[in-house]
Amino acid sequence: MPRIDLRRLILLLSLAVVTLTAGNLFFASYQTQRNFLMAQTLEANRIYAVKLASSTDDFFKSSQQQLAFSANLLAPIWDQPEQLWQEVHRLRRQTNSFNSVIVIRADGKIIASSPLSMNLTGTFSNSEGYHQASKARQPFISSPYVGANNHLMIQITHPVFDDHGNYLGYLGAGIYLNEPNILHSLLGEHYYRDGSYLYVVDTKGQLIYHQDPTRIGDVIKGNPAIDAVIAGETGSLRLHNSKGIDMLTGYAPVNRIGWGVISQRPTDITLEGLQRLMLEVAGYAVPLLLLSLLGIWWISTLITRPLWQLANSTQHWGSSSAAQSVSKVRAWYYEAAQLKFAMQKALMSLHQQLGRLNLENVTDSLTGLTNRRGMQLILKDWESHRQQFSVLAVDIDHFKQVNDSYGHSAGDLVLQHVAQQMRRLSRESDVLCRQGGEEFLMLLPATPLNQALQVAERLRGAMAYTESPNGIPVTVSVGVTDWPREGETVAQALKEADLALYRAKGKGRNRVEPVPPTTTTG
Ligand code: GH3
Ligand code: MG
Ligand code: MG
Repeated sequence: MPRIDLRRLILLLSLAVVTLTAGNLFFASYQTQRNFLMAQTLEANRIYAVKLASSTDDFFKSSQQQLAFSANLLAPIWDQPEQLWQEVHRLRRQTNSFNSVIVIRADGKIIASSPLSMNLTGTFSNSEGYHQASKARQPFISSPYVGANNHLMIQITHPVFDDHGNYLGYLGAGIYLNEPNILHSLLGEHYYRDGSYLYVVDTKGQLIYHQDPTRIGDVIKGNPAIDAVIAGETGSLRLHNSKGIDMLTGYAPVNRIGWGVISQRPTDITLEGLQRLMLEVAGYAVPLLLLSLLGIWWISTLITRPLWQLANSTQHWGSSSAAQSVSKVRAWYYEAAQLKFAMQKALMSLHQQLGRLNLENVTDSLTGLTNRRGMQLILKDWESHRQQFSVLAVDIDHFKQVNDSYGHSAGDLVLQHVAQQMRRLSRESDVLCRQGGEEFLMLLPATPLNQALQVAERLRGAMAYTESPNGIPVTVSVGVTDWPREGETVAQALKEADLALYRAKGKGRNRVEPVPPTTTTG
């Protein structure tokens, strides 16, 4: 089974790291933004509720002041219906605060009322407002009730006393919760911004203002924000409302009358924008992510390429191209460089061993000279390069007799002695061969014939005048030629050298004989 390669491993790892990191960042930023947004919305609703509650409180305060001012005018004109009517009419028309204004005697008889269309003057009141106000006998704001004209209303009252402090009755101003007036503008016509809305409850948790008019009058139980605001608390809460909707709610009480103002926004709508925002973030992040993956892919290629190439070069380890392909690898970092170095060393020692084996193949074991096979390889090379050379064919004179007289091993020593003399007299670049038996060849590259003859003469002299092992006198005969000659192959040149050698033997041995000069015709 093929193993996965390093580049793919790095890529997979990077992909995993990049996606995990990006995912974590994305999640963390979503959570942070979400919490921030929710906290902000809760606070905004709380502040809005506080503001509305305080405005409402101010409205009731100024209404009570208006009423107090007016009530103080009433005792002197208590028995003058026309003037009483003038005053209640003025009070109602002065601002848009009150839908109706009445003056009512302690016994319940209405002695003045505005507007006239109500037709209340002269009747006796039995309304809840009347009972609450008569009982209080001080500045009072009633709880909501259904009044004489079937309006859901509240009544703001102020008592009237004569000079002796006797209670005469009261001045009452009706505010209809469903009709246009300042309070309605303040609480009922709420500006419904970005899904937020506002409602108002009275001290019993009954809805008195709500964006859905059919719900007005409903009493809401089990809503923690309502419970808190009725108890006089200001704050904010995340809760599920009576319809099960997840809400971010702020609340504040209208202290003067114990009502509660509640401002809220569905959590879903609040977070809607965030989801759009996160999508936008992803829109920016994904191309960058892809770009960085591309970068990682490129870098991983750079990192793994040397290792991959080194690994691949092991597939043809035995062949000579292995060293070449290893040396071509650009190992630009420590580990790859070390591996490359180690592989080069291993290849080198391998080739050295192979080289030694080859050397043994082309070396004559007795003399250490090149053998016939090695000689042939070299001559083939020289012939293909047309390398000029001279050749000396050397043969020991009467060697048979040496063997016969002194034994075969003494003969071997003589052979080694000749090889030694050849070595002594030759240059580094010369190739010395033992062809077999007691026949030798000296190949002298880049050497003209006359110089080769000098070398041959020196060898002959050395053999003739030096002591050989065991004092046996040994001479050699030498035939000399050079190459290239007109139309001659290397093999023919060797034959020429042999022929010259035979001529030397024929002429009495211990002599040097050159190839005969070529006779060029015309
Ligand atoms: P010449 O060349 O002067 O005509 O006479 P020669 O006696 O040298 O002639 P020949 O070439 O007939 O003799 C070669 C002898 O060399 C024959 C053989 O006994 C001997 N010989 C060949 N190879 C070896 C070797 O490896 N060791 C020894 N000791 N003798 C060898
Ligand atoms: Mg011979
Ligand atoms: Mg011989």
